[in-house]
Amino acid sequence: MTHTTTPPPSPGKPDLPTHSDHQLSATDFSTLSGAGRCTLVGAGPGDPELLTLKALKAIQAATLLLVDDLVSDAIVALATPGARIVHVGKRGGCQSTPQAFIEKLAIMAVHEGETVVRLKGGDPFVFGRGGEEMEHLQAAGIRVDVVNGITAGLAAATSLGVPLTHREHAHGVVFITGHAKPGDTGTDWRALAATAHSARLTLVIYMGVSGARRIQDELLSGLPAHTPVAVIQNASLPTQRQAVCTLGELQCTLEREDLASPSVIVVGDVLQGLLALQQPLSQQSLRA
Ligand code: SAH
Repeated sequence: MTHTTTPPPSPGKPDLPTHSDHQLSATDFSTLSGAGRCTLVGAGPGDPELLTLKALKAIQAATLLLVDDLVSDAIVALATPGARIVHVGKRGGCQSTPQAFIEKLAIMAVHEGETVVRLKGGDPFVFGRGGEEMEHLQAAGIRVDVVNGITAGLAAATSLGVPLTHREHAHGVVFITGHAKPGDTGTDWRALAATAHSARLTLVIYMGVSGARRIQDELLSGLPAHTPVAVIQNASLPTQRQAVCTLGELQCTLEREDLASPSVIVVGDVLQGLLALQQPLSQQSLRA
């Protein structure tokens, strides 16, 4: 198994593009032959035992894996010896591999006859641009298969023993991003808070740590300050850390506990029992 950021040329095959080849157009692939395939595979939250059997089979069948940086090393290690592994992660705010480059790399490799697995954290269709990647590959005439993964929000809640839709406390759950794409005004947190309160919805916020102060302030317009919140970092990994607090304490808890990305923030009464375990009896009786 080779771990590279820019893949080495394959003998007898055209070279895969390098970072400087971003300008390649779809027509550049017309000279290539071969009938490879591409599968978008959900790697789950990190623990390899949370992979689906389908995901494991796809990883083991791959000749080229394009791997996001939220995919754990233990999962990448399941690839067959000889498979080429290209890390194409792009964490918010860090130096990243441009999306167009990742897609061109996949398209070119498929045309070369490779079995390409695009390995993405969690579920490929829950945030993380899996839908966009699939559309671009399909537009290039490539058949794309998709294998589900366990999304981080589900794994995070389960790691705390919290059912996101416990019917005593919630009628449903909203998976929502705290990080809008450039040019998008993003979520109307005030409207969401009012809806979550009246419709009894649990909120599971992805990519919310850096905007947590604003999210907290705006959610407080419609949800009580004592609404329970949990922040779970590195869910399912040996490095998992978490904190449970109230909505009114979210930002100061993040700072005090030094919780950072990748984390999910869960908001809602399904966490009541967990919060009660954290708080002194005097505070619990004040709210009763
Ligand atoms: N497709 C992924 C989400 C990608 S967006 C999924 O279904 O899980 C990236 C965000 O997912 C991170 O910023 C973080 O909010 C969340 N995330 C991914 N893996 C995580 C993990 N192991 N623990 C906590 N949050 C995680």
